[in-house]
Amino acid sequence: MNSVTKAAENYEVHDSRVLDWAKDIIEKSSSPRLIQRVIINAVDRNDIWRGQECLNLLAPEAPTSPTVRKLLASEVGTRAAEGHIGPTQRWFSGTKYIDEIESLCVELLKKVFKCNYADHRLVASMIGNMAVYAALTKPGDNILTIAQPFGGHSSNRYDGPAGIRGLNIHDVPMDPVDLVVNIDEFAKVARKVKPRLVALGASMTLFPFPLKEMSEIVSEWGGKIFFDGAHQLGLIGGGKFQDPLNEGACIITGSAGKTFSGPQSGIIVWNDPELTKPIADTIFPALAATHQVNRVAALAASAAEFLAFGNEYMAQIVANAKALAKALHDRGITVLGSHKGFTETHQVILDVKQFGGGLDVAHKLAEANIITNKNLIPSDKPEDWDYPSGLRIGTIEITRLGMKEAEMDIIADYIVSVLEGRDTIESIRKRVIDMRSSYQKIHYCFD
Ligand SMILES: *Cc1c(COP(=O)(O)O)cnc(C)c1O
Repeated sequence: MNSVTKAAENYEVHDSRVLDWAKDIIEKSSSPRLIQRVIINAVDRNDIWRGQECLNLLAPEAPTSPTVRKLLASEVGTRAAEGHIGPTQRWFSGTKYIDEIESLCVELLKKVFKCNYADHRLVASMIGNMAVYAALTKPGDNILTIAQPFGGHSSNRYDGPAGIRGLNIHDVPMDPVDLVVNIDEFAKVARKVKPRLVALGASMTLFPFPLKEMSEIVSEWGGKIFFDGAHQLGLIGGGKFQDPLNEGACIITGSAGKTFSGPQSGIIVWNDPELTKPIADTIFPALAATHQVNRVAALAASAAEFLAFGNEYMAQIVANAKALAKALHDRGITVLGSHKGFTETHQVILDVKQFGGGLDVAHKLAEANIITNKNLIPSDKPEDWDYPSGLRIGTIEITRLGMKEAEMDIIADYIVSVLEGRDTIESIRKRVIDMRSSYQKIHYCFD
């Protein structure tokens, strides 16, 4: 083995057993065509398993409508359209229809989020966060963001865009029981650190933030609030969460593929005209060039669906989350936020330490075709990070498949059966597949 391969192997981050499986397929296949068959086969098996036989309760996932899926495979996805909308601000000609698609997307986003400006060119919300840090901060600035055990996301920490920007990151003080910002502690820390930006990005999110109070405090030194609403974006657009732009946040980023239920990618919205140039200059030409116009078309189509069905859809997502949380609590499971009505979002957070912790439980549930994820919760210590006590559940997909409060009781029974080992995994999986077979149609769309 030469030293180059050796070094490469030493630094491989992926599981080498899985990569070895792929190497083996590639080496043993008699032709590239057969290798392609194996790829398509994996996609098809995933479609059957995750797409038709599972209860997908992963909080960051949403099923898209048939129209949105079709647009993702459209011809326009092979076209190049760098630059800003309009005939004079692009590098390439041939973009007259692309201008129509993109301008409809921007104007629809403004309408859904009731804001003055929106950008559609972020291939991920992570990149939106990078745009905000690049446009609104300078290296060495202080910022306040939420630590991971309280739901914080890497994009606002040292290992993500905020870290890449060279910012000094301090923690937003959170109340471990009420799961909201501790506003008195926040006032103390903020007045000491005087952050240029307070980034509120929560991947574990149950309750609204005291945005008005926070923005009044940071305005003492001209600080700003940045709402990373990756998860809550749809709830915000559907009027089912707080309204960050009207409560003191100057800018919102969000994932289009979480509660918003469009194609996976990023959205950024704001009102202040003074932010427009710094943000736009960062998006293009710094962070987006070919921005996947098929995705933009799909995003525009999902925004149109959202205008028609968003309010009703988002209300049912939250109602289902509350019902599922209560059903689990009534069956003796520890649900965070139980003293405050459990949740105001699409999420339900369980403490499953007594059942072996989040990793074990998530794997066991997945064997029963119930897909969730392990999650850090406030009681976890830094040494628990790989084996946290929490389990995160989301109700986006089951809601879009047409399930209502009554079905949450059935799902709670399945989950508790797995946790308590009441039935064999196989028998629970059979019941899950059977239940899921009558929920295959995507609701809240025109199809
Ligand atoms: C999911 C998430 C992101 C990243 O969003 P992508 O669209 O997956 O890039 C950023 N911030 C928070 C708080 C998130 O939960």
